[in-house]
Amino acid sequence: MKEILLCKYGEIVLKGANKNFFETKLCAQLKHKSKAHGEFEVTRAQSTVYIEPLTDDCDIDGMMADACKVFGIVSVARAAVCEKNIDSICAMARTYLPDKLAGKKTFKVEAKRADKRFPLDSMEIAAEVGAAVLEAVPGIRVDVHNPEVTVRVEVRETNAFVHPGPVKAAGGMPVGTNGRGMLLLSGGIDSPVAGYMMAKRGMTIEAIHFESAPYTSQMALDKVLRLAQIVSEYNNDEIIVHVVSLTHIQEELVKAVEEDYFTLLLRRYMMAIADIAADKCGCCALITGESLGQVASQTAEAMAVTNPLANRPVFRPCVGLDKEEIVEVARKIGTFETSIEPYEDCCTVFTPRHPRTRPELAKVLEQENRLDFKPLVDEAVAGMYRVVIRPGKPWTTR
Ligand code: ATP
Ligand code: MG
Repeated sequence: MKEILLCKYGEIVLKGANKNFFETKLCAQLKHKSKAHGEFEVTRAQSTVYIEPLTDDCDIDGMMADACKVFGIVSVARAAVCEKNIDSICAMARTYLPDKLAGKKTFKVEAKRADKRFPLDSMEIAAEVGAAVLEAVPGIRVDVHNPEVTVRVEVRETNAFVHPGPVKAAGGMPVGTNGRGMLLLSGGIDSPVAGYMMAKRGMTIEAIHFESAPYTSQMALDKVLRLAQIVSEYNNDEIIVHVVSLTHIQEELVKAVEEDYFTLLLRRYMMAIADIAADKCGCCALITGESLGQVASQTAEAMAVTNPLANRPVFRPCVGLDKEEIVEVARKIGTFETSIEPYEDCCTVFTPRHPRTRPELAKVLEQENRLDFKPLVDEAVAGMYRVVIRPGKPWTTR
């Protein structure tokens, strides 16, 4: 018996003249993912991508799990392929479905005919296949209103497909269809989620991480790179992380400015450096994991003080989410357990006891002018280095 994966488009179906651009990216990304699981053919027709194993040793489960990480498709079904006649379809339902329906009490059948020349209509197909399932699966009954499983029969151009319903996939738009964004990636819970959310809208993500060695350790940096590696799986299997040292800036700030302003000023430096990095890499936006009011530096007033350093939009996809909601996404995408490993961040060294929550720009600038802002920024940018990270592959720093 031959099985195939049917991947259904999300928002791409709404695209007009440029639909082909989105479909081409989507298929290329699925094809790329497939290479880790054997020899597959990836084709598309009628708002569906078909992923077909070409040899018996293909890992269909692995492919299915990876397909669910590619943005642009809303569901993936693992289906049995059969000839386009009702006898073959019913025979397939009898052999293929009993395993999948084991232990289930109720089902219904939904049939779709993309090929209207097929001699039975959808209702007739559903009735025939329903009877076949009743015969083949002991103890199961039909419930059209609230079934435990909805068996699908799809009669398409070349074949018919039978499956016990699709699983939910990632949704969104294919990565690379909506520009490039520079993610300020810390080791926390929020920023990996922010990167995921923007990748979901089709942005290719690049990341910048600020460290503060020797106050922050190699282990802390390693944790961030491991987080980046998880995010890379949603970013067409690659992410470039730019690493910048803030050590000198922090040491100068500690000497020169009032403690209350320390974090805010540090964040202005981060924003300025990230903006230069974004410019160098063709990123049209910055992305942060900020959530309104979560900490002192994330009030609207504090954001108003840091935002002007960016010469491009600053996307904060977590801004309206509660911590609980961010954690839920972090768990779903697999970053949570790594994020909660207890390593220090540059923001947690030299932390003020009473950070400003309602800063005034004039006062902030007065503090900032105690140091030479630009040379410190330039020095940090000059020391920036990049790490290329891919799933399952080792990376080297420096
Ligand atoms: P997160 O969980 O993402 O660390 P947080 O709640 O700890 O967020 P902050 O430390 O105030 O919040 O940081 C807010 C945002 O600033 C982060 O989401 C991230 O985008 C950016 N940021 C903070 N620290 C760093 C860092 N060391 N390197 C790069 N970006 C950072
Ligand atoms: Mg943080």
